[in-house]
Amino acid sequence: MTTNLPRPDRALAIAAHPDDVEFGCGGTLAKWARQGTEIFHLICTDGSKGTWREEQDPAELVVIRRAEQRRAAQLLGGTGEVIFLGWPDGELESGLRQRAQIASWIRQLHPGVVLAHDPWKRYRLHPDHRNAGFLATDGIVAARDPLFFPEIKVAPHRPEELLLWEADEVDHVEDVTESFGVKIDALLAHESQFHTTMNIGDDVALHETEQTQFRNKIAERLAAIGAGEGFTYGEGFKRISRL
Ligand SMILES: [Zn+2]
Repeated sequence: MTTNLPRPDRALAIAAHPDDVEFGCGGTLAKWARQGTEIFHLICTDGSKGTWREEQDPAELVVIRRAEQRRAAQLLGGTGEVIFLGWPDGELESGLRQRAQIASWIRQLHPGVVLAHDPWKRYRLHPDHRNAGFLATDGIVAARDPLFFPEIKVAPHRPEELLLWEADEVDHVEDVTESFGVKIDALLAHESQFHTTMNIGDDVALHETEQTQFRNKIAERLAAIGAGEGFTYGEGFKRISRL
């Protein structure tokens, strides 16, 4: 087990949907941003299916979720500028077109650390999470090797580290004790996801109680990860170096 990477100058988080970054590595990004790292969000899908309300207009949901994601990125300490690739929610493929887009952004942003879904997480159902993970790993290979995608007119870039969240085998922990509160605030910026991912219902009178319950649930999870390393709260990853 390793802990606490040296702070990178730039970090890029690649996720399937708005809110995945905050769940997966919000504490780590917030910690680094506070210390001076430039952080970037790249969201592969448009998030248009992220609701249980059948009457929801998907186009309207896209607009809402983009605003929420920008707000969350800002809370973590980013500029609020977020890259949205806009692929249809639930239908993300890890094909060559998508891979070229990811490689192009890695070359343009030249992050020291890339953070993403672990595509090898066993028994994962959601195809977007799996495919976004493969886009990140495959995108790194294409970004670093000069003969891949000659149509990308940007110099190759090789990140130093890849951290995969929701990891099948956690072998790296970041201490997020100081940034835990910011992670929660950023998660709660995704109001359209209260019901589906945070178990916070429509009854506003119950919001405070339900938000506290949500906070406690995340606290419990991150405390369990941090405990082995002596951190109050930790975010766990599979770390891949020598990219
Ligand atoms: Zn997701």
